[in-house]
Amino acid sequence: MTQQQSTHPATASGYDAHHPPSGDLIDKCVHCGFCLPVCPTYVLWNEEMDSPRGRIYLMKMVADGDATINETWVNHFDACLGCMACMTACPSGVDYAKLIEATRAQIERRYARPASEKRFRRFLFSIFTHPARLRALLLPLRLYQKAGLEALVRRMGIPKLLPARLQALEALLPQVPAEETLPELIPAQGDRRRRVGLLLGCVQRVLFSRVNTATARVLAAEGCEVVVPAAQPCCGALLVHAGEEEQALRLARQTIEAFESAQVDEVIINAAGCGSNVKEYGHLLRDDPQYAARAKAFAAKCRDVSEFLAELEPRATYHALRLRVAYHDACHLQHAQGIRTQPRTLLGRIPQLQLLEIPEAAICCGSAGIYNLVQPEAATQLGDRKASHVAALDAEMVVSGNPGCLLQLQSALARAGRKLPVRHGVELLDASIRGVSLENSHRTSVS
Ligand code: SF4
Ligand code: SF4
Repeated sequence: MTQQQSTHPATASGYDAHHPPSGDLIDKCVHCGFCLPVCPTYVLWNEEMDSPRGRIYLMKMVADGDATINETWVNHFDACLGCMACMTACPSGVDYAKLIEATRAQIERRYARPASEKRFRRFLFSIFTHPARLRALLLPLRLYQKAGLEALVRRMGIPKLLPARLQALEALLPQVPAEETLPELIPAQGDRRRRVGLLLGCVQRVLFSRVNTATARVLAAEGCEVVVPAAQPCCGALLVHAGEEEQALRLARQTIEAFESAQVDEVIINAAGCGSNVKEYGHLLRDDPQYAARAKAFAAKCRDVSEFLAELEPRATYHALRLRVAYHDACHLQHAQGIRTQPRTLLGRIPQLQLLEIPEAAICCGSAGIYNLVQPEAATQLGDRKASHVAALDAEMVVSGNPGCLLQLQSALARAGRKLPVRHGVELLDASIRGVSLENSHRTSVS
């Protein structure tokens, strides 16, 4: 039994009536195949049905009633990373993001996943979209790491005895740091140029709180008053990308409310996956009469930190960092938000920093939200491919703009025997402005 009953009315096609993948968007695909060479799953397997063109064809088959939503069909969509490289490559402007989002929501409503799969997904969402739960789970892990037990367990090869998905989870875990917290208001240095809100993310605020601290310091140094609403929840990005629409809508409404009361000019995001999601709130909440206009207004204020800072005339003084840095484009920055030059422009403000380009920059590292946990084999192959490109460079550090990529790259580089530090670009800006080395850059908090 693979079909389940959707609460939305049925249609003549295999989809229910609640926002099926748009026929107009599907028909924009002219089957040219320009997207194939940048699609990570096509690159790995050379299978038409695991390419963007093939997946759009599969969507059409169900729309026309020529196929049903069954296990084989679903597998091709589960394998898609949602990296949106196909959108950047497509000369016809096919909006694959909207197509895959609608398809995944249909899958979650109409397809009965095996019970173990459902449980695993539910577990991931119950942890990763609730910072307090993630924190509670990581506390004993931190103690275990500090006691040196993790290294011992790894040396004994015990993780290899775990099922593949738990192995993937174990391999991704970084050294759990002590969490840094931010005050609700950080004053601008010098004359105030802007009042901005800072979106903390969920994984970011627990595992990479130092990135949020660095972001707040850089914004303040550039003349921004920074508001950090305490009531902000997870923005729901992981849920949207996995087709869990109802829960995602609830978190989107709460996020909007938290920032409305902060009365900011812009909302700054430093996690690419979160940024691409909040910029689409207008679309996500389009059916909600109470929130549709508010969601559009909120989305119009959302800016990735690199996008925002690149447009702001620099005021801070940037000190030299003598480093060779490989820059990794996060897919949800480069493809979903079209942000490629801004992070490079900002790193270019740091004297003596040498920027190195990673070959195959358009291709995903395999992180992609929860992809590396639900599809560990493909994610590992993509991570290893990226790590081999990085290893061939003479880099001293890898920089990216998304916490998922930082975890994935760290783990892939460790597998390749290259223990390069992996940092967020804003951490380099922060260290440069403060004239400190990166090792010491997190040791002073924001007042
Ligand atoms: S989103 Fe990425 S993985 Fe999915 S079809 Fe497009 S290029 Fe391929
Ligand atoms: S590049 Fe665009 S139009 Fe061409 S096959 Fe891919 S999605 Fe279709």
